[in-house]
Amino acid sequence: MDYIEIEDLEIFAKHGVLSAENQLGQKFLISTKLYIDTAKAGLTDCLDYSIDYATVCAYITDYMQANTFKLIEAAAENMVNDLLLSFPIIHKIDMTIKKPWAPIGLPLKTVSINISRGWHTAYIALGSNLGDKENYLNDAISAINSDPMCIVDKVSDFIETKPYGFTEQDVFLNGAIKIQTLYSPKMLLDFLQKIEYEAKRVRTVHWGPRTLDLDILFYDDEIIDEDTLIIPHQDMINRDFVLIPLNQIAPHHMHPVFKKSISELLASLTEKN
Ligand code: ADP
Ligand code: MG
Repeated sequence: MDYIEIEDLEIFAKHGVLSAENQLGQKFLISTKLYIDTAKAGLTDCLDYSIDYATVCAYITDYMQANTFKLIEAAAENMVNDLLLSFPIIHKIDMTIKKPWAPIGLPLKTVSINISRGWHTAYIALGSNLGDKENYLNDAISAINSDPMCIVDKVSDFIETKPYGFTEQDVFLNGAIKIQTLYSPKMLLDFLQKIEYEAKRVRTVHWGPRTLDLDILFYDDEIIDEDTLIIPHQDMINRDFVLIPLNQIAPHHMHPVFKKSISELLASLTEKN
């Protein structure tokens, strides 16, 4: 993707672990790549379709001088997050913060931190089979969309489905959504679990009744296999209550492991049943 690059913006500010660094301050050099689609600005010669780098330089300077962090890791993390929220035209930011005067008593040219953060696309399955199911699903979607770190792009219809696994329970209402998010996969899982918890989810039986279940189906094309998080969602290809709503909003989305589209996966499952 296209980007606008700012190299070694010089700022005097007061970040550091040592108290001298917080009191006296020192020089920082900030370089950043702002990933945007510049084609429209290029074709129209109009700044409205691009980003004003003077504004971004002033923003970074103000941010560095208005805040005091112990770590340049924290300065970079917070500032990049704020920039992505303040300038929605930017998809991704790479940032380097260099400390040329790092006070370690040894000669060095610079010490620096490099990070890359941006918006990601995720698909989430929603399910409820206890209480006012439609309300639980709608409230969950509102909670996700009202978090600044998430934007809900697409919402499927909600469909009624028979229980899966433990079958002695009420029917489920299921749906799927597409979101843009600044959260990492782990942070997204924590955020969704907080929403489940606030919906007073009770989990007495595995696959048993629950007020709200939120599962991450996809996170970009990432493949994650950790103790608490498996992406793409492990059992999604066997669940029509996941694939049917997902097929409404993303029929051509490719499963990164099976290399098949959602509509193909749904067709194979329907054939099997
Ligand atoms: P299920 O959703 O399979 O019916 P639960 O909602 O009770 O079951 O999930 C149990 C655990 O699954 C969660 O604590 C979470 O750590 C783990 N998990 C693994 N991968 C995912 C994922 N992609 N989305 C949501 N939870 C996941
Ligand atoms: Mg779950």
